[in-house]
Amino acid sequence: MTNSNTNKEIPYKIYLEENEMPKQWYNVRADMKNKPAPLLNPGTGQPLKAEELTPIFCEELVAQELDDDTAYFDIPDEILSFYKMYRPSPLVRAYCLEEKLQTSAKIYYKFEGNNTSGSHKLNSAIAQAYYAKKQGLKGVTTETGAGQWGTALSMACAYLGLDCKVFMVKVSYEQKPFRREVMRTYGASVTPSPSDTTAIGRKILEEFPGTSGSLGCAISEAVEVATQNEGYRYVLGSVLNQVLLHQSIIGLEAKAAADKYGVKFDTIIGCAGGGSNLGGLISPFMGQKLRGEADYEIIAVEPVSCPSFTRGKFAYDFCDTGMICPLAKMYTLGSSYIPPSDHAGGLRFHGMSSILSQLYHDGFMTARAVKQTEVFAAAEEFARCEGILPAPESSHAIKVAMDEAIKCRETGEEKTILFGLTGTGYFDLKGYEQFNNGELRDYVPTDEELEKGFATLPKV
Ligand SMILES: *Cc1c(COP(=O)(O)O)cnc(C)c1O
Repeated sequence: MTNSNTNKEIPYKIYLEENEMPKQWYNVRADMKNKPAPLLNPGTGQPLKAEELTPIFCEELVAQELDDDTAYFDIPDEILSFYKMYRPSPLVRAYCLEEKLQTSAKIYYKFEGNNTSGSHKLNSAIAQAYYAKKQGLKGVTTETGAGQWGTALSMACAYLGLDCKVFMVKVSYEQKPFRREVMRTYGASVTPSPSDTTAIGRKILEEFPGTSGSLGCAISEAVEVATQNEGYRYVLGSVLNQVLLHQSIIGLEAKAAADKYGVKFDTIIGCAGGGSNLGGLISPFMGQKLRGEADYEIIAVEPVSCPSFTRGKFAYDFCDTGMICPLAKMYTLGSSYIPPSDHAGGLRFHGMSSILSQLYHDGFMTARAVKQTEVFAAAEEFARCEGILPAPESSHAIKVAMDEAIKCRETGEEKTILFGLTGTGYFDLKGYEQFNNGELRDYVPTDEELEKGFATLPKV
C-alpha cells in the first residue's frame, strides 16, 4: 500500500508563512535506541570529554555535539532572523519532470540552493558563527575543498562581524578562482593549502614540494591556527552531530509544508558526502520511523568513486587525512583513501556521519552508489525541464529519484517521492563541460585499492 495524497490542489511550490516556520532544531539521536558511538581521543582510546573539545570547538557546539538525549533545541532569535533572509526554502512539486518521465509517481524536491552560497551549508554556517560570536570569540578557521562550505561560512561571519580564515585546498584555489573571490568579497581571508603560514603546512611543503594539497592537510592547518590563536575556534561543515542538528531545519520545513497539504512521502532520497543534508532532510521523518509512528523508505546516494556506505567498513577512524582529529565510528574507506578529483567535490569525504552510519547499520535506511556519467545525464534532464541548474552533488539524488519514478511508470505504483536538491551548479561547469564533450569518465575503485584504505584504519 502506498500513501495517497489528499485532493487538495498541490501548488507548484509550497512555502511556509513566517509564523509556520520551525523555531527549534530536532535531534534525531534522542529517538535512537542504539546511539551513535562516542568520539574517541586518539591518544587514550577513551570517549572525549567536553573539556577536551572546547579548546578546538565553541562551548555551546560541544554541548550539542555530545547531547544524545535532548530532542529539541531552541533556535536562537538571531539565527531565526538570518534564516528569514533566505528561508523557508521551497518544497517544489516536480510536475514537469513527472510529465517528462510519464510516471505515476509524485515527485517533490526541497531546494536549498536559493542563497548566494548556493547550498544548504549556510544553515549550519550561521549557527556555528553565532555561537562563536556569543562566546566572545574574534573569529573562526576552517578548510574548504570545492568551496561551498567556505563560501557559506564567509557569508555568516560577515553578517555577524567575525573574522573568518579559510584554508582552501591549493588545487581548488587555483582552479576555482571565482569561489575564492566570493569568499574574499564577504571579507574572509583565503589561504591556499598547504601554506607556509603554519608549522604543519611548512612541514608538508618541505616533504612534498609542489603538492596540490588535500582536504586532510587543510584541516590540519585550520586546526593549528584555531588552537594557537587567542580568540579563535575551528568549525566544520559536515559529518559532526551538531551539523546534522542544524540541518534538521531542512526536514522540519519539508514536513511542515507537506503536512499543510496532506502530502505523505513514501520514499526520501538524498546525496551523502559527510551526511549533513541527508541527515537534516530525513531527521523528523526518521524520528517518526524510530518511534513507530510512520514508515518511510530512505535512500542515501553516493558516488561509485567514494562508496563509504556501500563498500566501506563500519569502524572507528580518523576524520582527517592528517590523523589529528578525534576518532569517529562510521562507515569509512579509511582516512588515507583519496578518491580521484571528480566533480562532485562535496561527496569526496572518506567517512560518513556517525548518526547516519548507525541508522544504516541498524537497517533504518539503505544506500546506492551511482556513476558520475549517469549523474550528469540526470542533471541535464532535470535542468531542461525544471529550470534549475543542479550541483553535481545534488544530482546524485536526482538520478535515484528518477530511477524510482521510472520504476513506478513500469509498475503503475503511485509512490510519493521526496528528494533533497542541495544546491546549484554554477561553479561546477567544468564538470558539465567535460560531460558535454563526452570526456567524463567513471571511476570504480578495485577491491585492492579499497584494501589499501582499510589497512590504515586505527586499531581500537
Ligand atoms: C557539501 C555539499 C554536499 C554534501 O555534503 P553533505 O554533508 O553530505 O550534505 C551536497 N550538496 C552540496 C551542494 C554541497 O555543497
